[in-house]
Amino acid sequence: MSILEMSCPLCRNADEDAAHLFLHCSRIQPIWWESMSWLNLKGAAPLTPKQHFLQHMDVQAHGVRINRWQCWWLALTWSIWRHRNNIVFSNETFNANKLFDDAIFNLWTWLRNFEKGFTIHFNQWSSNIRQGFCTSSGQHMYISSIPIPWFPLRICMSECGTIVMVLLAVI
Ligand SMILES: [Zn+2]
Repeated sequence: MSILEMSCPLCRNADEDAAHLFLHCSRIQPIWWESMSWLNLKGAAPLTPKQHFLQHMDVQAHGVRINRWQCWWLALTWSIWRHRNNIVFSNETFNANKLFDDAIFNLWTWLRNFEKGFTIHFNQWSSNIRQGFCTSSGQHMYISSIPIPWFPLRICMSECGTIVMVLLAVI
């Protein structure tokens, strides 16, 4: 594939820009929907990566490990970007399962290193990913104006600061 190619390397059906690649691509949307279903979240995706990022960071939910949820946005977008580069520069083909598995592994790796007391074996984590975000079975989702805890965000941004800077710069 030529690096001058303007179409999305994942679907080849639209011009590639940040909003399409990370949010609206037909190959990517199902992954976001799947992860939103873990928390019983519903609704249309915001139009821009910045809006999507801020909405994701601002979700406050009873019974949900919000720090892990915030890190998930970074883990998934980082995996999308790496997957896209592997297609463009290494002629790999799109593989949604691999992208998804990579994101889950990224998140597990970050939590293992930065979350105190996180000792779950990867196999257990990956096979119970939904439960990994929840502290209880009953969930009530709402948007809150409570300031978000930025500490884990900074940790994760140091892991993939490039992608975050790109996303915030293109808006
Ligand atoms: Zn696409």
